[in-house]
Amino acid sequence: MVPPEGARAEKRFPAATDKPFLGVPSPARVQGPTVRFLGGVREIGGNKILIEDGPDRVLFDFGPSFSPRREEFYVDYLQPRSSCPAKDLLEFDLLPRVSGLYSKEALGDADLAYAPPEVQAVFVSHAHADHAGYLRLLDPEIPVHVGAGTRTLLDAIATSTSMKYGDHPWKVFQDGKPIRVGRIEVVPFPVDHSIPFAYGFLVRTSEGTLAYTGDFRHHGPRAADTHRFFEAVAKEGVDSLLIEGTRAGPDPRRNLTEEGVRSSVDRVLDGHRELALACTYPRDVDRLTTLHSAAVAAGRELVVSVRTAYLLTQVAPRFPTGVVPVPGRAAGLQVYARRKQRSYLWERPFLETALPAEEVRARGSHYLLALDFAHFPELIDLRPEAGSPFLHSMSEPFSEDDVSDQVMHNWLDHFGLVFHQMHASGHASGPELLELIRATRARAVYPIHTEHPEAFAPAGPSVHSPELGRAYPIARPR
Ligand SMILES: [Zn+2]
Repeated sequence: MVPPEGARAEKRFPAATDKPFLGVPSPARVQGPTVRFLGGVREIGGNKILIEDGPDRVLFDFGPSFSPRREEFYVDYLQPRSSCPAKDLLEFDLLPRVSGLYSKEALGDADLAYAPPEVQAVFVSHAHADHAGYLRLLDPEIPVHVGAGTRTLLDAIATSTSMKYGDHPWKVFQDGKPIRVGRIEVVPFPVDHSIPFAYGFLVRTSEGTLAYTGDFRHHGPRAADTHRFFEAVAKEGVDSLLIEGTRAGPDPRRNLTEEGVRSSVDRVLDGHRELALACTYPRDVDRLTTLHSAAVAAGRELVVSVRTAYLLTQVAPRFPTGVVPVPGRAAGLQVYARRKQRSYLWERPFLETALPAEEVRARGSHYLLALDFAHFPELIDLRPEAGSPFLHSMSEPFSEDDVSDQVMHNWLDHFGLVFHQMHASGHASGPELLELIRATRARAVYPIHTEHPEAFAPAGPSVHSPELGRAYPIARPR
């Protein structure tokens, strides 16, 4: 059963540790539809947004945050037990205490007792782990709503990695087509992000409307989608705007557009005759496409891992023909055969024609090899010539003492590779965020998915830094 509003807020959620930086009205008891932030508060990722309208409850996104707090307890191979992952996360308040949300199996004998579903629907904005990574903990009867492309991506990731999302009644939504869940209506809008098929949502309740941006940018190949979403938000005249702020606050990292990345790759390839190496996020289809076209233009072939080959093959049919290169069909695309003892079924179609290290080493000038960080031991066989370029096409580390960054540089130094940074972020910049907030004229703005909610203060008095677990009315006084 759903306990009374106030009781749940006080008893079940961890106390907020941060005082709001701007005046938030403190309703003793909130009337009407509310929004609660059960994650993504003063942290990057981990959004868990609960919208309640009378008996109807809808959750948006459900994944772990990238905050250091989780790593206080779980790091590397020290992870929650697969027999009762929710219990092991609840122990450290790494999950919200919501009854009627988790599966019996995930809870095990946790101190949060199992209850049949009290949330009618979960919507996933996109397939990144910090938004979808905890889906497997959900009660398997709760429907999970995703875009068709996200469904494809989640399937491909679950097949080709250890990440699992659980069994659910999957519901595939259409762009711009409203979905009704009791009194709540949700309208999905595609937005531009560093993984394809990302969405923002307009949410209409019995009293008030809200927009949730998910993660977005407007300097990538789908910028027009982001513009259309924000136009719809402005037109709707939403009461509440939930906006991500990954890049809000101090951010010294250089950011390029996707076209800027392309010109940078072109420049590096133009000046080198050795094997060129690149490293990017494995699900950044735009970047893989950019690397492929740059390689072809430079008279090289892009060589990708078997996992990337599988992902491209799965998602390509969701794009217009020819946009996403498919191994075996697109010119200038090859698959790399890592030295492995075993192969999985999904890998086999690619292995017959995959290139071994000896071939890539012998004809280095002919290839641009995109390796994952975890594949670095292949460098021992590849022996790139000293001075060969390494294209780091990912975000720069946040801090100078980033351990894996140091490890990467140790490898590059060992082989004498020359580091080139070139990246287009998946997120809008701080100034862009402020501009968008002004344009939407929402009555209340909640920065989430950010470590710096205070950076939103210049957008004016409508901005409220949300507190974890607290219920905010969706309809704001006019
Ligand atoms: Zn995110």
